[in-house]
Amino acid sequence: MIIYDLDFSTLTNTLEKWNEPVYRAKQIWQGLYQHLYDSSDQFTNLPKSLREKLAENFPFSPFKIRTYLDSADGFTRKTLFELPDGNLIEAVLMRYGDPADNPQITASPTGRGAKNRRTLCISTQAGCAMGCVFCATGQMGFKRHLTSGEIVAQVMYYAQMLKDVNESVTNIVLMGMGEPFHNYDNTMSAIDRLNDPDGFNFGARRFTISTVGLVPQIRRFADEKRQVNLAISLHAADDAERLAIMPVNKRYKVDDVLDACRYYVAQTGRRITFEWALINGINDTPEVAKRLASRLKGLLCHVNAIPLNPTTGYDGRATDRNRAVAFKEILEQAGIPCTIRMRRGIDIQAGCGQLAGGV
Ligand code: SAH
Ligand code: SF4
Repeated sequence: MIIYDLDFSTLTNTLEKWNEPVYRAKQIWQGLYQHLYDSSDQFTNLPKSLREKLAENFPFSPFKIRTYLDSADGFTRKTLFELPDGNLIEAVLMRYGDPADNPQITASPTGRGAKNRRTLCISTQAGCAMGCVFCATGQMGFKRHLTSGEIVAQVMYYAQMLKDVNESVTNIVLMGMGEPFHNYDNTMSAIDRLNDPDGFNFGARRFTISTVGLVPQIRRFADEKRQVNLAISLHAADDAERLAIMPVNKRYKVDDVLDACRYYVAQTGRRITFEWALINGINDTPEVAKRLASRLKGLLCHVNAIPLNPTTGYDGRATDRNRAVAFKEILEQAGIPCTIRMRRGIDIQAGCGQLAGGV
């Protein structure tokens, strides 16, 4: 267990067991999540003996930094972490400037002059069991679930790094390696820990969870009425077409997924995002756009289309700009808002679906 695996009550119990005053829990929590200390030596407000006990029992960083890569434009950094058992995971920092999300025009790599977003894309599993054919993580298969602390630690790593340049994380997307709803409990406890107002205090609305569409978990998530944003990877509007690229469709049909989405909107009043990787000739035709529009009719939603990023295990190609715009226009004419997302970090294999623990 690492230090970030502890929730506040477990930390308090541990201190009681060690015969330490419980107010130390608060000091440790503040050190970890407000001052962003990254080693026990930094807790100068604690007695040395307690610092040593902490260090002996709970390692601070679970990761070896294998390598990191910066995109040529300097706006995206991908870090490859090695876990103690040798598994590799990746987490990506994306710097965005306002208003056009186009850093070349609106901002410099230091972010000067831009209204800055610092978005982290973090992993919830090493590998993934869902097997989507177009996704590098799916292509590598499932290794294991991450603990809540390993999920939190990715955020703390970047938060500490940004703090050194007087910046901070503004958004967290659970869109790195793995399927967050397949590791539901650890993912939610990581979010709760980061959300704690007495700790890191990261607002629920600044998180986005992306799921392949695990129906029972979508319903559970809806019942919990969390303020966290939800995105669903749909990519096809028809069972046969979806099954051809996403094996999960064997278990959960498009209708089941959309019913669960309607339930989510009814329970929370929140808009849902559908993700759509545009693959040339596969899911980007006007017919598909029309079918999608009719299936989404009446649902409080938004479609996030992104031209497919290349991966070694799949030979589908990205939709070109004109076809992507035509797709978007059909949806919008039918009253479904759609944005075409900018591709980020492609030169360092840090784009959506390109994370595979390689370099
Ligand atoms: N497992 C979750 C979250 C991680 S993937 C999920 O599938 O939703 C994050 C997003 O990237 C998903 O929408 C996924 O479908 C998409 N994606 C995967 N491979 C991609 C690729 N090669 N190009 C573009 N998007 C891709
Ligand atoms: Fe897993 Fe998401 Fe990749 Fe599918 S797209 S294989 S669910 S990480």
